Amino acid sequence: MPNVVIAGGGVVGCATAVHLLEASPGLEVVIVEPDPTYARAATGRGTGGVRQLFTRPENIALSQYTLEVIEGWQQWAGHPASHLNWRPNGYLFVAGARDVRDLAANLETQQRHGVDAEWLEPGRLAERYPQVHVADLAGAVLSVRDGWLDPKAFFAAVRAKAAGLGADFVTDRVVDFVLTGTAVRFVTLASGRVLAADAVVNAAGIRAPELAARLHMRLPIEPMRRHEHYVETSADLNHLPFVKDIDGLAVHPHLSGLSVGLVDFDHPGGEDFAADSSYYARSVAPALTHRLRHLGVLTEQRTWTGLYDQNRFDGNMILGNWPGRLDNFYVATGFSGHGFMHALGVGRGLAELILTGDYRTVDLHRMGHQRILDDRPYPEHGIR
Ligand SMILES: Cc1cc2nc3c(=O)[nH]c(=O)nc-3n(C[C@H](O)[C@H](O)[C@H](O)COP(=O)(O)OP(=O)(O)OC[C@H]3O[C@@H](n4cnc5c(N)ncnc54)[C@H](O)[C@@H]3O)c2cc1C
Repeated sequence: MPNVVIAGGGVVGCATAVHLLEASPGLEVVIVEPDPTYARAATGRGTGGVRQLFTRPENIALSQYTLEVIEGWQQWAGHPASHLNWRPNGYLFVAGARDVRDLAANLETQQRHGVDAEWLEPGRLAERYPQVHVADLAGAVLSVRDGWLDPKAFFAAVRAKAAGLGADFVTDRVVDFVLTGTAVRFVTLASGRVLAADAVVNAAGIRAPELAARLHMRLPIEPMRRHEHYVETSADLNHLPFVKDIDGLAVHPHLSGLSVGLVDFDHPGGEDFAADSSYYARSVAPALTHRLRHLGVLTEQRTWTGLYDQNRFDGNMILGNWPGRLDNFYVATGFSGHGFMHALGVGRGLAELILTGDYRTVDLHRMGHQRILDDRPYPEHGIR
């Protein structure tokens, strides 16, 4: 029976184990994870947004698979859907005159790929969501099937499913590999333990590049700090969709207020978790109160940070093996803030690749490492 060793037990590692074990019951799957509390993992710090509003067909299809799972959650997870706190209020992308043509072109792509999204002129947008300030907007796209969920509940279910199907969780850290020709044969752990492997999955998040480097594979990924703020409001905003605007503001109703973030892509990369206590007041609050009106009294209640595994080459995931050089070493990283919503489809794709030699459901070749070697970026167009 082949062994698959997965480095990293976050949502991507666990989703990969689930799909491997569903496709091949009895397979030996070991997940090596140094921190079962996930205190610093992206999985423990994400916000749980799920949207189809991408421009690359792969990203759209991966989100659609996650939506299918969420919509059939009881059967998939064995828990009532209420556990997930799934809020399908939709995603709303808004753009001003400079970007409206791109937004419209993106909508055409999305509709061609089965996304149930509609165009809203500013006037209609204001009627539908009077809180959205539209004076500087030239158009918006609303994707009605999208939404957000409790990421902790989602991850707990994916992890429990992996364990229930027989994945073996080992609390340790992968430190090195033994290679024979183009295949990894053994995985060395920090404890000194050595695991035999027929396939290895590198799902170590921001640490994936250092593991890949052990095998001379370069991944252009670095940790990128991201703040998220929970803000209480005196207004009732529960009906709002997840709003994103071109300058990076991302805001959605949460508890009795809003969860809001504004990505600072210029912040230098590195493993920096320190929260900047003035960031909300300086950068986020002005953008928030510009885009949303009638918010009542706003009180910043909690600010936290997490790290994106940011792909500085093109902002998309890097997935799969390196044929001819590292045949059985599969990477799954560089999610750049989208890994939660794509983890299930990524896990399914990797399981197909490992077990059958090719992708079967969604062709993910263009997300492969080859594009780095060829210097052919495959970026998203539109709002990041
Ligand atoms: C503030 C914030 C908001 C976000 N919002 C969203 C969102 O709305 N929607 C969305 O889709 N995504 C979102 N994301 C991104 C999402 O959280 C990540 O893309 C996703 O969790 C990545 O999962 P992962 O399993 O690849 O990585 P991680 O969760 O980081 O897991 C990697 C694991 O590998 C382990 N590890 C490290 N080194 C080793 C080693 N040497 N050996 C073994 N294991 C190792 C780590 O301990 C860690 O647990 C957000 C992220 C942040 C920070």
